[in-house]
Order: sequence, then structure tokens, then C-alpha cells
Amino acid sequence: MRTTIETMMHYAIHLAKKNQTPYAAIILTSDYKLLAASPNTVSENNDVTAHAEINAIRMAGERLGTTDLHDCILVTTCEPCPMCASAVVWSGIQRVYFGLSIQQIQQKGHRQIPLNSADIYSKSGNGIYSEGGLFDSEVLALFDNYKKAKS
Ligand SMILES: [Zn+2]
Repeated sequence: MRTTIETMMHYAIHLAKKNQTPYAAIILTSDYKLLAASPNTVSENNDVTAHAEINAIRMAGERLGTTDLHDCILVTTCEPCPMCASAVVWSGIQRVYFGLSIQQIQQKGHRQIPLNSADIYSKSGNGIYSEGGLFDSEVLALFDNYKKAKS
């Protein structure tokens, strides 16, 4: 199981790098099959809600034909922002794995609302398991690549 999450985190990092963004998210079924994967597409779509996690949740819902994703797992390069953490709650997702924390993203100069996803999850009462710090040095490198690509 651990190996699959790590493999999927590497895939998310690859997807983010390919799309010149630090943000990419993947949704897996409870038996670790890939259901949806997306980078952040805010600029491409001119849509402030097109965060990687929101895109992936939309794709997973379309594929499964339901809004109920309680059997699914979210793997994302960065900690879900308050909008995405709320979408996790509404979708029923039970497990979340991420790389960098919101504080670390802010330290890279990216605008964030400083509210931890764990606070949103705990207030939801959904019993969501969340774990951060996965491959954080590789995710940090995504921010450096992104900065280079933009300059
Ligand atoms: Zn977000």
C-alpha cells in the first residue's frame, strides 16, 4: 500500500513538472487503481477553482457517475487549500496524502489562505486521515522549476 502511494506521488510530481506547475493531484480507488489525475489548470482555464484537487475530484465523479467518493484516496503534491479541503469533505474522500504544507508553499512565495486542511477535516467530523511531507524535497524542486519557467 505504502509503495503504491509513493508511486502515485511520484506520478503526481511528474504530471506537475510536465505541466510546469507545482500542483498536481491524483485520485485512486480504495484498491489503488488510478481514477483521475490532473495538474492545476487555473491559467489555462481562466478559472480560479481549477486547482489540481478540484479538477481530479470532478474527473473522478464523472468517471464513477457519482458525487460519493468515500472509497477514494487523494494524492496531491501540495496540501489542499481551504477550497479543496472542503471539496474533499463534500466528496466523502477518506484518505489524503500530500507533499508540501500550506506554510511551506507560502514560504515559496505562493499566495495561500493559511488554514490547515487538518483543521477543516477535523471540523467536518468525517474522520478523514491526512498525511503530509511525502517527497517534500522533490515537491520543493517543482516550485524552483516553476519559478525558472516563469522568469
Ligand atoms: Zn486548492
